[in-house]
Amino acid sequence: MKKINIAIDGPASSGKSTVAKIIANDLGFIYTDTGAMYRSITYLALKTGCSLEDEAAIAALIDQYPITFEPTEHGQEVFAGGEQVTEAIRQPEVTNAVSKVSAYPAIREKLVQQQQMIAKDGGVVMDGRDIGTAVLPQAEVKIFLVASVEERAQRRFKENQQKGIKTDYETLKEEIQQRDYLDSHREVSPLKQAEDAVRIDTSGLTIEQVVEAIKKTIKEKID
Ligand code: C5P
Repeated sequence: MKKINIAIDGPASSGKSTVAKIIANDLGFIYTDTGAMYRSITYLALKTGCSLEDEAAIAALIDQYPITFEPTEHGQEVFAGGEQVTEAIRQPEVTNAVSKVSAYPAIREKLVQQQQMIAKDGGVVMDGRDIGTAVLPQAEVKIFLVASVEERAQRRFKENQQKGIKTDYETLKEEIQQRDYLDSHREVSPLKQAEDAVRIDTSGLTIEQVVEAIKKTIKEKID
């Protein structure tokens, strides 16, 4: 298969990472979770006691603590400055602060550069909010995944239960809405469907059905 780039964007908890991982695995492509990069910087800012108002200080953390992805027997793990942060970056404190941090232009500039480096030779499935619009505007395939906020909150609730993270459904729903609002209203590359992206509403669809729909799009685009 030609080493194309596949961009998968969409709002919080729309199922992007689950399907992106499956597609990358099936095609033998690299999977890049750009949300994990913004989460890692937010985690580092909280951990090092950096003020969340201090854009320059947070941006400096990116040079100090390189973010890397390593394949392991438990799947892909995330490291920040050598520390394994895969689970730590999913904790509610990080989730609730990440949209503030990701709105800073200095932070986006550095992380977008890294994301473009990862994808420069193709063969990448990258998920996020601005992949099709800003990071990889030339990506051969662009997907925009959406689902109702109720369904997304329900999915996240079940996922948290399985991981032993305590949350309640209503709070999760509010947090998802708040994050979507901030992510779609920021000044620099807000969450927005690229004009040439294929929109898939995953409400009521199984993971397999979403994967099939994306594979069909890939086939149509590259045949
Ligand atoms: O995808 P995930 O929900 O883990 O992303 C966490 C946060 O990172 C998003 O809510 C958004 O603020 C930010 N993000 C972003 N641009 C991306 C990916 C994520 O601003 N490409």
